[in-house]
Amino acid sequence: MRPLIPDYLADVLSSCAEDDSGALATYIPELARADPNRFGVALSTVDGAVYCTGDSDTEFTIQSISKPFVYALALQDRGFDAVLDKIDVEPSGDPYNELSLEGSTGRPLNPMINAGALATHALIEPDGDVQARVERIVSGLSAFAGRELTIDEAAFESEVGTAYRNRALANMLRSYDNLVFEPLDVVRGYTRQCSVLVTTRDLAVMAATLANGGVSPVTGEHVISPRIVRQVLSVMTTCGMYDSAGDWLSTVGIPAKSGVSGGILGVLPGQSGLATFSPRLDGHGNSVRGVRAFERFSDQMGLHLMEVAPPARGVIRAEREVRMADGGLADVFSLQGAIRFAGAERVVRTLAEDTHLAPHVVFDVTYVFSVNRVAGAMLREVAQRIIADGHIVTIVDPEEILSITPDGGPLRLTRTVTEALGNKV
Ligand code: GLN
Repeated sequence: MRPLIPDYLADVLSSCAEDDSGALATYIPELARADPNRFGVALSTVDGAVYCTGDSDTEFTIQSISKPFVYALALQDRGFDAVLDKIDVEPSGDPYNELSLEGSTGRPLNPMINAGALATHALIEPDGDVQARVERIVSGLSAFAGRELTIDEAAFESEVGTAYRNRALANMLRSYDNLVFEPLDVVRGYTRQCSVLVTTRDLAVMAATLANGGVSPVTGEHVISPRIVRQVLSVMTTCGMYDSAGDWLSTVGIPAKSGVSGGILGVLPGQSGLATFSPRLDGHGNSVRGVRAFERFSDQMGLHLMEVAPPARGVIRAEREVRMADGGLADVFSLQGAIRFAGAERVVRTLAEDTHLAPHVVFDVTYVFSVNRVAGAMLREVAQRIIADGHIVTIVDPEEILSITPDGGPLRLTRTVTEALGNKV
């Protein structure tokens, strides 16, 4: 069979390619020289399948798309308190290069605008050593991309020579004691960070690493913890698209980050990473064709975060009363799927409402493929409460997904329902 996803991506690409509105960023001379017609689209699944179309292997500078990843590295190096102490997480509704700091504390409003990104850059270990800091960032970004990335020296020189606004921002941070280093050193380091070369394919893999809870789908490396991923995705959701963040969230509904060279990366938690590259920008500094492509992905693939998930009702696959080998009666509850709070609540409620529960209760979780922390705790508590009411409980859990330890008494663990009912296997 001819694979379906590349055809779909090519279809999105050709329909969005018709739009040649927008303009190249010119404040960085090197970006003004980009080929405006380039257009690449890529999708990486969380299990490492990468689909690409168009100019998806063309290299361009990562620019602002580095910000969420360096924020992740700063959180890893310094911990949450130290980072939040320096940079807030409030959407600013301002353009990315706005000269703004929080009035009372002098903190940048968030790590996605330049003020916050400069402060974030300066938090990367090791202290004081400009060169080492950049090396740590390049290797961190490489871990996200699953390959060794390099810096475009020409783009760096081109931007750093005219980075007057970023210098102003760094000086402002320094004046509020938010920066302990020489402002110009921080601007140079941050500009090198923005000059790391990536392809659309790399961005899709980087996004998929976040979608996969911080584990690279291509190398298997644990790049950052799930708790840091959660923080980064939250900030991307509220601040990733600058002063169009609200519009983006309501129409596209995917945590995303754009960059002034024309890249956009989007993360579908637990599913996949998406990326586009097309250099013409709209008034907010976001790629025109990229925004269009993401609107189509979201609509056609049903990717909007706020799209309401199917109700948890289906967690109880079957409920039946059966006769056991010894003649006693058992109620067998077969559960299925991914169980989270709402699914576990369904199980709790069903049992609480059951006034004729048989002496023996069997929970069959053979077809349950995941139970989150709260659901696991709720199901274990249900077992204990039924036992306290005088019943015997058997958990059929061949993969030990519920982590139940049988107690040699009323709490039992088996691998099959047949065994739970006392029949020979
Ligand atoms: N290096 C660029 C800057 O600091 C990044 C901006 C962006 O991509 N939006 O201005």
